[in-house]
Amino acid sequence: MAKISINLATGSFQKEEIIVGIDLGTTNSLVAFINPDKNPQVINDAGKGILVPSVVYFNSQNEAIVGNEAKEFLTTDPANTIFSVKRLLGRSYKDVAEHKDIFSYKVIDDGTDALVKIQAGDRFYTPIELSAEILKELKARAEHALKTPVNRAVITVPAYFNDSQRQATRDAGKLAGLDVMRIVNEPTAASLAYGIGLDPTEQKTIAVYDLGGGTFDVSILQIQNGIFEVLATNGNTYLGGDDFDRAILNYWIENNKLDFAAVAADNILMQTLRLKAEAAKKALSTQNLYNEQVGEIWCTLYKQTFEQLITAKVDETITACKNALKDADLTSADIDEVILVGGSTRTPFVKQAVENFFSKKPQDNINPDEVVALGAAIQADVLAGNRSDILLLDVTPLSLGIETMGGLMDVIISRNSKVPTKAGRQYTTSIDGQVNMKISVYQGERDLVKENRKLAEFDLKGIPAMPAGLPKVDINFLLNADGILTVQAIELRSGVKQEIEITPSYGLSDDTVEKMLLDSIEFAQSDVEQRMLIEARSEGEQLLYTAERFIEKHAEHLTEEEITETKVHIEALKTALATQGKDTILKKADELNEFTRPFAERVMDAAISTAMKGKKIE
Ligand code: AMP
Repeated sequence: MAKISINLATGSFQKEEIIVGIDLGTTNSLVAFINPDKNPQVINDAGKGILVPSVVYFNSQNEAIVGNEAKEFLTTDPANTIFSVKRLLGRSYKDVAEHKDIFSYKVIDDGTDALVKIQAGDRFYTPIELSAEILKELKARAEHALKTPVNRAVITVPAYFNDSQRQATRDAGKLAGLDVMRIVNEPTAASLAYGIGLDPTEQKTIAVYDLGGGTFDVSILQIQNGIFEVLATNGNTYLGGDDFDRAILNYWIENNKLDFAAVAADNILMQTLRLKAEAAKKALSTQNLYNEQVGEIWCTLYKQTFEQLITAKVDETITACKNALKDADLTSADIDEVILVGGSTRTPFVKQAVENFFSKKPQDNINPDEVVALGAAIQADVLAGNRSDILLLDVTPLSLGIETMGGLMDVIISRNSKVPTKAGRQYTTSIDGQVNMKISVYQGERDLVKENRKLAEFDLKGIPAMPAGLPKVDINFLLNADGILTVQAIELRSGVKQEIEITPSYGLSDDTVEKMLLDSIEFAQSDVEQRMLIEARSEGEQLLYTAERFIEKHAEHLTEEEITETKVHIEALKTALATQGKDTILKKADELNEFTRPFAERVMDAAISTAMKGKKIE
């Protein structure tokens, strides 16, 4: 095995090897690298195009097809064509239920806080696996174009992504066979692409306005001493260029005196008109009139009309900018630079609105589709140690986390995080009446704690007895500038608290760190697969526990048949748990869920009405 030396101060690898920058987007993804001339460059493998649509199609053999080819199945086989998976990454069904109508594929509703899964064919996929398919495609394209193995990457995420969404992105990278050197905020990457923040003496406040196909966000960043701090973010994750297309489509339907329902019922016509609407929008970025015909339908649009059609949406983005500034306690006069990101900022009306609001010409000379990936490549280059001009901050060389169900490592502070840093996460109990919680702290990159280094263990005692899932235990990690880690656990309902101090670097040699990192790379894929199996098992077991208790407790409200049938499903899940892999376990769990849902709802309604009886309504 090639020896790779690791700079412990930066956690970076010193070997001459390309680290790519990846923009893993909701609609499109792309990959960039630093070319031999030391300039960031996007990869266009064999002329396939720079943008890879973030769409995954599963054919009847369960093979994944990614990108433009997959996009073609959106209309012909929507149930097995997964788009917008970024919206599901690190989220539970509860998080996304409100917007479930936009998904044409099956998002499993298990009514819990568990992470969502998607069904395609007879398989179940997590958003992590689906994102990994997109990343694998980008990795393959980069390898093909650069004619060298690509094993390391910097991946960008929106500034508003929470810890769980960031962890999911890291896991997706791992599963794709990539060592994720760092997760970088998209606005930070965009600033780097414009060279902002590269000089550590520079102090600037910048606004990054990002309007893509389906999402909008604005971030206010403060750059000081080479540190990018997100002061505020605002936006709407369901607003973008797609809304402009829809507005044009509706306008044409109205203008041609067509019946909307009739057009909507004709899938092919609808799709054709939608594509024409997008073409019109793009054309109007450089001309004043678009005029085409689809059969008998006139697709005519003047730039001025288009601008009227989108005014309300654009105004909404400006309101978000106002709110972001307010949250950051700033006014537009405090903003030194404004950066445009996302394909929809090509619309001149959008550009002008941003300029009017900030009273400043926004930076727009870098292609707005590419700017984030280019910045990610620059960040990758910094991590590779190729840029001595950039201040490298002290970072923690190994991840710190705690043990969760099934012996899994739940990372709280990830490797390469700048120190000092703090992070936390909320946990709960898995058994009714649980009064103690064991907290085991680990260090390392492997998914199973047994492969990592145990740092400490303590008990949070005296949690008041409550049903499983009700206690809220916050676990907070604080790593100070001297490398001392304080772990605090607090049950929020009762205030029960416990705290310890650890020195993670104690007894840790450079060789050990190096070995731990190399092992994590070697076992990355199998680790994530094991993690997913363990997670499926835990979920299945939790469901068994709930289902068994449910039929015991509410037997009087259920029919004989319902009880017998539920027991059959319970047995099937038990067998799957004992003998089968992830997909079968999840399938059986889903079947049990689907079967019990109608009468579980009925029993709940009955319980509520019993509780209401005899109560005076005032
Ligand atoms: P992104 O999500 O950043 O890839 O942005 C994609 C969005 O940008 C889509 O809604 C595209 O229709 C839109 N877009 C791409 N090119 C243009 C253009 N020339 N003018 C206006 N919108 C564009």
